[in-house]
Amino acid sequence: MLGGGQLGRMLALAGFPLGLSFRFLDPSPAAPAGEVGELLVGPYDDPALLDRLADGADAVTYEFENVPVEAARRVRALPPPRALELGQDRLGEKRLFRRLGIPTAEFESPSLPALVKSRRLGYDGKGQRLVREGPLEVGPGELAEELVPFDRELSIIAARRRGGETAFYPLAENVHHEGVLRVSRVPAERAPQAEAEDYARRLLDELDYVGVLALELFEVDGRLLANEFAPRVHNTGHWTIDGAETSQFENHLRAILGLPLGVTAARGPSVMVNLIGGVPPLEALLALPGAHLHVYGKASRAGRKLGHVTLVGAPAGVVAAAIRLADEAAGATPGGV
Ligand code: AMP
Repeated sequence: MLGGGQLGRMLALAGFPLGLSFRFLDPSPAAPAGEVGELLVGPYDDPALLDRLADGADAVTYEFENVPVEAARRVRALPPPRALELGQDRLGEKRLFRRLGIPTAEFESPSLPALVKSRRLGYDGKGQRLVREGPLEVGPGELAEELVPFDRELSIIAARRRGGETAFYPLAENVHHEGVLRVSRVPAERAPQAEAEDYARRLLDELDYVGVLALELFEVDGRLLANEFAPRVHNTGHWTIDGAETSQFENHLRAILGLPLGVTAARGPSVMVNLIGGVPPLEALLALPGAHLHVYGKASRAGRKLGHVTLVGAPAGVVAAAIRLADEAAGATPGGV
């Protein structure tokens, strides 16, 4: 696996019951996946390391969307490196949506207010600025898109196996704060499931996709607009570990290994709460009935995703308590959110 972050770690944890084992390449010796597999430490563009990574592997994948496309090509990674390449350029991505008939916020001639985003290496709202009044200056490495007065944010996680078998998870409703995901609720109420699946399927088929893909959407006046896709397992799909018949992590592995996809149905209503900047006392968190805790083994730092907790079939009061605990722990870190 290219990348050894929490996504790689959770992929490995999902793969162990299937009898799989893992090797990771990551620039950091402290990568969280180092605890669940062999970790090669070094840059993503070192050919010798890439060859060592792929040596003897049944499949190679990536868990981080900013790995160099050339590295993914060298190790014949799945999902197809073309998906990685398109996902790395917000403008190319938006043009692809357009070509496939998937509606987006206006980006070719946006009116104000507009969001100016860097075309590359932007994530979690980084590299964005809001322009309310003109002139709208857009640099060569940037794109501007209209600010969408969305009613809510949704996402769909899809899986496609070589040959075309696809599966879709129920839509998640997501709440972001300062560009970072805080809470996902599944299934989203009155979810436009069929429309979201249609858009995701167009992408999967166009890319001859293999693996799990996430599509982030805005809902505005009952219409869906695509914001971006990620060619990998996704934070808004973490609820599937505890809340779905088969997790997004297991289905990604099944897909890239050419195995049958698992059932994607939800086991009940789930709420996933990110633990950002601090992990609440386990004593308090684990006292909540139905709470499933996942910590990633990362050093705490303000604004950093350190873990998540999923509540399946929990009453609203328990969910509120989990969110409160997460907020308190985040606030406990100096400069936390
Ligand atoms: P992104 O980095 O594109 O995923 O954006 C991060 C977050 O910024 C999104 O989840 C939205 O909450 C917000 N955002 C991004 N693009 C827009 C837009 N065109 N209009 C309104 N909000 C946006």
